[in-house]
Amino acid sequence: EVFLPLVITFSLFAESPAIVIHGGAGWFSNMSPDEIKDLKKGLKMAADKGFDILENGGSSVDAVEAAIIILEDNPLFNAGRGSFYTSEERQEMDASIMEGNTQNAGAVSGVTNVKNPISLALAVMNKSEHVMLSGEGAESFAALQGLEIVDRSYFYHEKRYQSLLKAIEKEKFGTVGAVALDLDGNLCAGTSTGGMSNKKWGRIGDSPIIGAGTYANNNTCAVSSTGWGEFFIRGVIAYDIAAMMEYKNISLKEAAAEVIQTKLTSMGGTGGVIGIDKNLNTVMEFNTKGMYRASYINDSIMVKIYANE
Ligand code: ASP
Repeated sequence: EVFLPLVITFSLFAESPAIVIHGGAGWFSNMSPDEIKDLKKGLKMAADKGFDILENGGSSVDAVEAAIIILEDNPLFNAGRGSFYTSEERQEMDASIMEGNTQNAGAVSGVTNVKNPISLALAVMNKSEHVMLSGEGAESFAALQGLEIVDRSYFYHEKRYQSLLKAIEKEKFGTVGAVALDLDGNLCAGTSTGGMSNKKWGRIGDSPIIGAGTYANNNTCAVSSTGWGEFFIRGVIAYDIAAMMEYKNISLKEAAAEVIQTKLTSMGGTGGVIGIDKNLNTVMEFNTKGMYRASYINDSIMVKIYANE
């Protein structure tokens, strides 16, 4: 007798890669057409770069890092160069990254001299036995890893500084983030921020907190948050979206809408998330007037700011 083996084939691979990025959520009043143009250009550059890496077979981790580096280097966004100032006129940055296949994660908080905090978060993930490092210790680790250390003046941004001095933007936020699906079917999420303008006492928001600002699991989704960090920490927002998908067996779109529009909103929190799942479903959900955002899916790029665009 001959037994014919039963061959079940299923694809571990994504048919097409995708990246979604954000540059912060808020009300964005008084923006000039030139500012809007420059912001959109910055978002497009970051999405282009990330997608290019993915299309050439690069990993979602590499794409997320590269897209975030572009936004950190662009002083128009509150991350890396151009970060908001603390009440002590310093710039203290936070970042985190998580990969969905291994659920490895890395995060840093309160770093002041590392050119690209997202790369430091990645080094924490890949080259240390820890998940989160802070302040001077994180900076020593960055130097040890050969990451680029810059003079604090590199991060200086006249407009941010003036906004601190005039205290005109009391509750001003902003953050950058990216989520991606690569051709191997792996998800990754990353987030980077200068935090809240005028923050005091070593305040840390949600951006470097795994589960609040960043979360990725291949079985559910990859999420990066932006908004009023205290609420995102208390609501464990990024993880809540993944957990709702897993426990309630609902779609990414339904989970994100419920977490942002119902749960976060009823707590009094404001902000938004970007997300992606392994089936190329993406989401950009926010309860503010706008969220700087871009996606590159199926060879088509989209860049938007306001809700009604
Ligand atoms: N979530 C960030 C923080 O609280 C700020 C933001 O995303 O706008 O530090």
